[in-house]
Amino acid sequence: MVRFGKFQNRLKAFVIISVVVFVSCNNETKQPVEAPKVVEAPRLPTPDFNADSAYACVKAQVDFGPRIPGTKAHAKCAEYLVAKLKSYGLQVSVQNGTVKTYDDKQFTLKNIIAEYKPDLGNRVLLTAHWDTRPWADLDSINKTKPFDGADDGGSGVAVLVELARQLSISKIEKGIDIILFDIEDYGQQSSKTEPQQEDTWCLGSQYWAKNPHKPGYFANYGILLDMVGGKNPVFPKEGTSVEYASGIVDKVWGVAAQMGYGKYFTNEVTGQTTDDHLYINQLANLKCIDIVHYDVEKHNYPYFHHAHSDNMDVIDKNTLKMVGQLLLEVLFTEK
Ligand SMILES: [Zn+2]
Repeated sequence: MVRFGKFQNRLKAFVIISVVVFVSCNNETKQPVEAPKVVEAPRLPTPDFNADSAYACVKAQVDFGPRIPGTKAHAKCAEYLVAKLKSYGLQVSVQNGTVKTYDDKQFTLKNIIAEYKPDLGNRVLLTAHWDTRPWADLDSINKTKPFDGADDGGSGVAVLVELARQLSISKIEKGIDIILFDIEDYGQQSSKTEPQQEDTWCLGSQYWAKNPHKPGYFANYGILLDMVGGKNPVFPKEGTSVEYASGIVDKVWGVAAQMGYGKYFTNEVTGQTTDDHLYINQLANLKCIDIVHYDVEKHNYPYFHHAHSDNMDVIDKNTLKMVGQLLLEVLFTEK
């Protein structure tokens, strides 16, 4: 006879199954003695990421106009993102900080932080940047004018907002933090006479890494999304991610291969890029990788990078679906 006694430990998510064994006594009567055996809880099925919702969220951001620090569109979009994440039951806060840009302007940044099951340990950090670059300086025309930033900014945020919705429905027993960083894209571009000034980029993540929203904040690992909604995507292994967190790269690319996404999540390693994950690794000491569209042959980001063509026309629901589903699969299948 086997009797099952179930006990759910909220922190460790283990189920203890009591197994009955029999022992012999002197008078030949048999009494059951319970020997606990610890096994893992059956895992929740991976939810179905909704690309239509994610696409609508990219469009909602673009419809505000370019989300340039200091503009009305920027302020309105922050309100929208906070309300959206709150509506899914996450604990949302906005980290305000004063930063100075390379051109000597001062802004109050807004890092939007949404915590899913904030009381649980064993956390995962998911991030994207929600601001857009003020100028299409890599375009051949109108270099001083802003652009929509549908992919550069919009897509990563949209995937995480839809993921927050899926978490709230699934009720997975895991601590997850979504941080939407501000002022990632206000950096000084390299020129023929001047090299790129690395630390002028990623001001929101640099600020957060030096001033985490919770003292001593720790996550097991982090995943940054940047330009994850474009047509014909290629996501090679990004060099900074491989340098600091190769185990996480291998894990995520391994899941992608199992899901049949190997054609897009390729095994080439790019040069090291400067993105929010650099500062999360260096300053916050958390292992964080970057999933970013990059053309290995051209040694560059896609053609619409920091150009007027970064608008809704480049956004492909299939790409949003692939990246969102991959993230959910990683979260729902890992031990
Ligand atoms: Zn950018």
